Order: sequence, then structure tokens, then C-alpha cells
Amino acid sequence: MKIIIIGGVAAGSSAAAKLSRLKKDWDITIYEESDYISYSACNMPYAIGDWLEDEDSIAPRGPLYFKENYGVKVQIGHRVEKIDPKAKTIRVQDLKTGRTFEDSYDKLLLATGAQSFLPPIPGRDQANVFSLRQVEDMLSIQDRLACCMPKGSTICIVGAGFIGLEMVENFVKLGYKVKLLASSKLSNLSPEMSPYLEEELLLHGVEIIKGSRAKAIQGRDLTLEDGRKIQGDFFLMATGVRPNIDLAQDIGVEIGEFKAIITNDQMETNIPHIYAAGDVVQTRSLVDGSWTYVPLGSTANKMGRVVADNMAGKPTKFPGIMGSSIFKLFDLEVGSTGLSEKTAQDHGFDTLVFYHIHRSHYASHGGQPILIKAVLDRKSRELLGVEAIGFTGVKNRIDVYASFITFHGKIQDLEFLDLAYAPPFSTVRDVVLYTGMIGTNLLEKDAPSESHQVNQDFMNYIKNLPRP
Ligand SMILES: Cc1cc2nc3c(=O)[nH]c(=O)nc-3n(C[C@H](O)[C@H](O)[C@H](O)COP(=O)(O)OP(=O)(O)OC[C@H]3O[C@@H](n4cnc5c(N)ncnc54)[C@H](O)[C@@H]3O)c2cc1C
Repeated sequence: MKIIIIGGVAAGSSAAAKLSRLKKDWDITIYEESDYISYSACNMPYAIGDWLEDEDSIAPRGPLYFKENYGVKVQIGHRVEKIDPKAKTIRVQDLKTGRTFEDSYDKLLLATGAQSFLPPIPGRDQANVFSLRQVEDMLSIQDRLACCMPKGSTICIVGAGFIGLEMVENFVKLGYKVKLLASSKLSNLSPEMSPYLEEELLLHGVEIIKGSRAKAIQGRDLTLEDGRKIQGDFFLMATGVRPNIDLAQDIGVEIGEFKAIITNDQMETNIPHIYAAGDVVQTRSLVDGSWTYVPLGSTANKMGRVVADNMAGKPTKFPGIMGSSIFKLFDLEVGSTGLSEKTAQDHGFDTLVFYHIHRSHYASHGGQPILIKAVLDRKSRELLGVEAIGFTGVKNRIDVYASFITFHGKIQDLEFLDLAYAPPFSTVRDVVLYTGMIGTNLLEKDAPSESHQVNQDFMNYIKNLPRP
């Protein structure tokens, strides 16, 4: 059996590794147009920020590793230009030599991922304008910093999603002056959670420019749509991603509302023998079954393994996602899972929204407050989504909420989860249990949703947190 995988990062490489274990004698080839496979894009901001002792840890498993350990052939620097689903062939270009050739498959995986989306503004091709998606982008950023960016020069980051925010921290750590252009709120969290992130940035000397979008870059000048101008020596465009669907679209693969590939729950496209996985596909929300697109490495890896099972004849379903995510912003941990208030309302839920602040664990053991925003469905009494900002212990809470929502837990049961407790790790009633207690009380009173004014205690906590 001949398997071809297009794209060799999270989805493609995890599919190849698993399939090679399930079917040792199958002929598996990965075509990857960049020079790197199986790399940790998630660690690139920290490689740029000099956190990693060993930068090879970004891409530890190259083509040789795949050949020797899995018997998988990897052709880097090779772009797949066309698929012929009737003949079950592909046309490939070797990007180094320009030579094109054909290969054939019995089953094919589209793991072509996504690419940075740069708004089509004049100046985006300038030598001092960058984006961060692949290892090559990281290397060009590092080269530019080394050659032309003495400490103290100014970096302007356009876009305040999690990649933009992670890069803010890393550039500050390297000694640069950082300006952040955010058209509206910061991060994927709700707008009312944004002021806390802004405060953390201000305390680290970051200049935040809000309320307008980039219109043009010329030399050191970034002009905004509202006419304001910002100066920078280096511009990082962190303005989102778009799925790489061209190959799929050419052969009539079904594309959904997120401009990403639609598959069934076995990751099969509508074209026979062709699967798709990772950032190139949209998937279902585990909360309500609606389509969603949250391109993350955690998901791409799982989908790749599901493809391997199904190709090997072991029917396996990809269940969907909660969209759980977390990132670090200096001393803050920022996480979310499930539906946001806005999405829940757009999807027709009768929501009850509330906020609370409780400590991660006892103050005497270094515990610090976590701000929780919770969204409930009044009708089913299920928890729909949670957002959290804190200083420690956010990830394990988000993971508990994610598990609870995945299995459609009712809010009155959350309070009674038997979570582990000892003073160095939590308070006797954990933050998560408080969400259950408060939510149940509010539902019983049929209370209205809370609106959140900036919580001054939490804000002061951020302001006064001792910093090394
Ligand atoms: C800076 C950064 C930080 C991140 N941090 C996190 C994080 O903390 N947590 C998390 O879960 N996720 C994170 N992500 C997201 C995560 O990296 C992606 O979700 C993941 O890489 C998706 O894997 P993929 O295999 O689907 O696609 P991709 O990583 O996009 O890989 C697809 C590959 O296909 C190749 N390709 C495309 N078309 C062709 C073709 N025609 N021929 C040959 N090759 C082709 C591309 O060159 C690319 O290398 C981060 C991403 C970035 C950029």
C-alpha cells in the first residue's frame, strides 16, 4: 500500500509515525515544501526570546530520523503542485532543482496546514516586515535581529492574538522597545478581560496602540487607517492565519464556512482515498456540534493519529474540540475553553454569565488569585465555556473545565468533583468548585448575567505583584 502525506509538521508527521507502527511494510512518503519537518512552531517565540538552551529542540526529528526510526521517506524542499484523484497521482516539484515528477498513491493525506495572513497593505514586502509561521520565518527574524537591531531599537507588532502577545514578551526580554497595535481587544478572551492584559503589558513598558488597523508601511513609518503614524525599526505582522486549501479546492474537496476543509469524523474528505487533518481542516465543537476553526498543534497531532488508524483499517473517530488554549504573558497565565459568551449567544443559548476571583492555593504557600469568567446554559444547566487569567495554576483549572464540559457536566455537579487537595496546591474548595457553587446559586435564583467592571482588587494585584 502506498501512502502520500502532503505537509510534514504536526498533522503529517504524527500520521506518518503512527501509521508506520501500525503497518510496518507500507510505503509511506511525506512531501514537505519547507526544509523542516515535525517542528515545534509553539516553541519558536521562545527560541527567538533565547529561552531554549538547545535550539535544535525546535525540530529534533528530521528526515533521517523518520527514515531510520519509522521507515518513512521524507522529501523536504518538495512542493506538491497538483493532485489527480482519478489517476491517484500527484505532481511534485523539487524546489532546489526545479525538476517536476509524478508519484502515485493508494491513500493520501492533506496535511498542508495554514499560512500567515498578512493584510494586503503597501509595504508588507519590505525587508523590515516579518511574520512567524515556519522555521524559515524564525531564522529570518533571528538574522534580522542579529544584524540590524541593536538593543533598544523599536519593534512594532501588528496584531494582539496569542502569537503577537507571546512575541511581545520575548522581544521585551531581548531588550527591545515594543509597540503593540491592537485593532480592538487583546487575545481571544472577551473584551472585558482585556484591561488586565493591557495592564501587564504597560507594566513591562509596552506601548499599546488601539482602535485602528494598519494601512501602509513605508520605511520606519506604519500609517494607521485613522491617519495616526507609528515608527518602528522592525514590524512583526501577527495578523492571523489562512488554511492552505488550494490543492484541495482544485480537485473539488468540500470547503466549509471557515475556508477550511470539511471532513467526516474519520478525517476523510468527500474525495475517495483522500484524508485531511490539522490546521487545514475545520472541525466540530464538542460543546454543541457546530463547526469551528481553532488551529492548534494539540489538535493537529490528534487528528494525524486518527488518520493513521483509519488508513490502517482501524475505524477511529475524531470527536471534535473544545478549543482549549493557554498562553503566557509575562507573569500572567491566560487560558480559555469551550464557547465564549458571544459565540454561545450567537448559537442561540440562553446564557448566564458570571465572574469570580479565588486563589490558586493558599497565600501562605504562594497562592495567587485567578479571575474566572464562566458561561452557563440556563436551559440544560451545562457549563458552556470558561476564561481565566491568573499567575499560577490556570492550566490545570482550564483542563478540568475542559474535561467537565466535554462530558456535558451539569453545573450542580461541578461543586462536587473530587479534586485533589493539599494547601500547597489549592484551597480546600478549589477555584473550579467555586465556579460550581456560584453557578448553581445564580441559576437557582434565576439571576441575570453579571456585567464585569474592571475589578480593582485584581488590577491592583497585577500592579503590585513583586517582580524580580
Ligand atoms: C509561533 C507559533 C506558536 C504556536 N503556539 C502554539 C501553542 O502554544 N499551542 C498550540 O497548540 N499550537 C500552537 N501553534 C499552532 C501550531 O503550530 C499549529 O496548529 C500546527 O503547526 C499545525 O500543524 P499542521 O501540521 O496542521 O500544519 P502546519 O504546521 O501549517 O504544517 C503544514 C506544512 O505543510 C506544508 N505544505 C503546505 N502545502 C504544501 C504543498 N503543496 N506541498 C508540500 N508541502 C506543503 C507547509 O510547508 C507546512 O510546513 C503555534 C503556531 C505558531 C506559528
